[in-house]
Amino acid sequence: MQDHFDINEALAFRKAAPEEMTRRRNSLLQAHLRQAVKTPFYKKLFSRIDCRPEEINLENLNALPLTSRQDVESDPAAFFATPPGIQVDLALTSGSTGAPVLVPYTARDLERLAFNEQMNFYGAGIRNADRLLLCVTLDRCFVAGLAYYTGLVRLGASCIRSGPGQPARQWELLDRLRPTGLIGVPSFLLKMAQWGKSHGYNPGKSGIRTLITIGEPVRRADNSLTPLGSELEKAWQGRVFSSYGATELETAFCECTASSGGHVHPELMIAEIVDEAGKPVKTGEPGEVVVTPLGVEGFPLIRFRTGDIARLHTSPCQCGWQTPRLGAIEGRLAQRLKVKGTTLYPEMIFQALQELAEIQASYLEVKADYDLSDRIRIVIGVDDPSTIEVDRITDHLQARLRVKPEITVKARQMVQETMEKPGGRKLKRFFDLRGE
Ligand SMILES: [Zn+2]
Repeated sequence: MQDHFDINEALAFRKAAPEEMTRRRNSLLQAHLRQAVKTPFYKKLFSRIDCRPEEINLENLNALPLTSRQDVESDPAAFFATPPGIQVDLALTSGSTGAPVLVPYTARDLERLAFNEQMNFYGAGIRNADRLLLCVTLDRCFVAGLAYYTGLVRLGASCIRSGPGQPARQWELLDRLRPTGLIGVPSFLLKMAQWGKSHGYNPGKSGIRTLITIGEPVRRADNSLTPLGSELEKAWQGRVFSSYGATELETAFCECTASSGGHVHPELMIAEIVDEAGKPVKTGEPGEVVVTPLGVEGFPLIRFRTGDIARLHTSPCQCGWQTPRLGAIEGRLAQRLKVKGTTLYPEMIFQALQELAEIQASYLEVKADYDLSDRIRIVIGVDDPSTIEVDRITDHLQARLRVKPEITVKARQMVQETMEKPGGRKLKRFFDLRGE
């Protein structure tokens, strides 16, 4: 199966008996580890812990050390398993936490990635009669757009390579080519709907049934839609599907029609959830997502720490696939906040703020307090600060988050400028001053 990535075989595999699934996954894991020890990093690691790939299986995989983003960033070339001659796509990570890392893909890696997305789209109910408007870039060394594109081609669905931005141009394509689905960043897809409405279009009647989203959470830990997710469904009258992946991992998760987490594709990946000490958490508990992709040729990682927090759902899925699902991303490990014994993430605060229509812009500031608790200040920007009822906002946040943050109200323009000042691709909304 790993050589030709056939969808029919893959669909049958998802219904295989547990023993058969384990046997084949163990053999895929073995092959992956043999490839990984060709890299300087893993060759050294296996020799240091005096272990051979043949001794590792699904049961004892967690005995191997974790690979961190710092390991990869400090010397990316130590993870190359193939000579430059067969590296056909040179992708760069987005570098949101450090310098962009070069991730070379071989032709087989690209085929594997396309198959991964083909299975994701199939699970989300997309078939070859569908046409998808791809509002994600294929260039600038990003891999996500390329993965979506080649996945759609493999599935036989039609792809409209629009790219991001420019709502007017997106609407021209929507009007002319009548796609049945959209792929993009949730806040942009919402902006597109709003732009359409104010320019005489009706997004709800545009024929969009499916919205594949990337980059921002559209679901909460309990799988309910975030305010952004539900606004998207309302605006387009379609269904939202969350997808999640990382360039280094060459692996992507996407929700199926049961909307209860992104499926772990059994021939392509192993997903674990670990605690702060790197030990497995209890089933269903949140922790850091650790992924071992299977069958990667050019940049094979083992137990890569993503830095993202989620849960793994292991109950049978309503869609019929017998594989676990990765739940919604609840936050970034590095941004974890601890307030008087309660753990929360900035994302949870942003989601609670999204429910308040009167707030036009906002960011968070966190400082370390003397009692080892984090001190959170939410800075809210509105056009007319005199109209804001701070007590009502505080009550709402306290009900949602179980902690009472400090709130400061400022003019919207000032808040906007603070968020734009760091100069990234995205607005900065989280200012971590705990180390200062
Ligand atoms: Zn499912």
